[in-house]
Formats: sequence, C-alpha cells, structure tokens
Amino acid sequence: NGGVSDAKNLRVKLVLLGDSGVGKSCIVLRFVRGQFDPTSKVTVGASFLSQTIALQDSTTVKFEIWDTAGQERYAALAPLYYRGAAVAVVVYDITSPDSFAKAQYWVKELQKHGSPDIVMALVGNKADLNEKREVPVQDGIDYAEKNGMFFIETSAKTADNINQLFEEIAKRLPRPAS
Ligand code: GDP
Ligand code: MG
Repeated sequence: NGGVSDAKNLRVKLVLLGDSGVGKSCIVLRFVRGQFDPTSKVTVGASFLSQTIALQDSTTVKFEIWDTAGQERYAALAPLYYRGAAVAVVVYDITSPDSFAKAQYWVKELQKHGSPDIVMALVGNKADLNEKREVPVQDGIDYAEKNGMFFIETSAKTADNINQLFEEIAKRLPRPAS
C-alpha cells in the first residue's frame, strides 16, 4: 500500500482530543506497541505513529495517528491539528467529570470545524479505576448516541477494549468506490 487509499486498503488520519492526563498517549502506545508505561512523560510537541489493522473482509486500514500535547493548552491551534482528519477520538477519564465536560467541548468544536463526514468516537478511559468512577457509563452512552458517535470504555493500563476501539472505528469508515 504505497501510501494511498483504495477500496481494499484505506489510509486514514486519526486525531486524539481530550484533556491532558486522560490517557491519550497511553491508548496510542498500547494500540501501536502493546505497551503501558506508567511513568511515561507528558507528550512534548507532536507525536506521530501509525498502525495497520486487517479486517475480516480482507481489507486493511492504516491509521496515521496524531497525538499532541499542544491542543490541550492551545485551543486556537486545534483546527490545524484536526484539519483533514477522517477520525477523531475524543477521550475522557471516567474518574474525572471535568474531563467529560472537556470532551463535550471537543465534540462541539469538531461539529463546527471538523470535516462533515468525520467519524467520531467517544472514549471513557481508565476503566480499570472503576472504584473511583465519577462518570456513569450511561452518561457516556447517552451523550455519544445524541451526537452520532461510537462509544466505548477502555483501559490503556489493562488493554481492555483498546483493539476493539480501533476495529470498531475501522468498520465505520466510509469506503471509497472500488
Ligand atoms: P494524555 O495527557 O492524555 O496523553 O495522558 P497520558 O497518556 O500521558 O496518561 C496520563 C496518566 O494517566 C499517566 O500517568 C498514565 O500512566 C495514566 N493512565 C493512562 N491510561 C490509563 C488507564 O487506562 N488506567 C490507569 N489507571 N491509568 C492510566
Ligand atoms: Mg499525551
């Protein structure tokens, strides 16, 4: 797949949005490298990783994943970051109602300024911290449904639902005509 999309091999830009500390970088590292590093440092500048997955219908999807720290602090730069993105993954931390409110802010931003056909996922991360949960699962489900988003709870720490997140996104991508 020489860098282009065709009917069998899609190549898509995916951006992660959400409050600092919700686990965006850990989700990416878990998905791409199968690792979790609890001492990982804050992302400085932008980081770019890619990962290809194969679907059951023998198509492949190459995710080009953009993970930055900048968008959390410099909201004005965010449109540069999500411009042209086919997929936006909006992440919150299930132990932090503030991060859930911030996720809703990002969804509204994307609805205003993102590509009209962008595929959006709402992700409640740190599901392993269920005893500290402050955002009910149902709140995530309801908000995602109202906004036409795919919803899932994940744990980058235990790997729970990380691959499922990307597989479900892949299934929802618009397919170019063959
Ligand atoms: P980012 O700022 O959104 O990129 O967040 P990071 O990926 O840097 O993670 C922030 C902190 O949350 C780090 O201390 C991680 O170890 C921790 N963290 C990330 N994902 C999880 C998770 O699923 N469960 C738990 N318990 N901690 C997590
Ligand atoms: Mg980060």
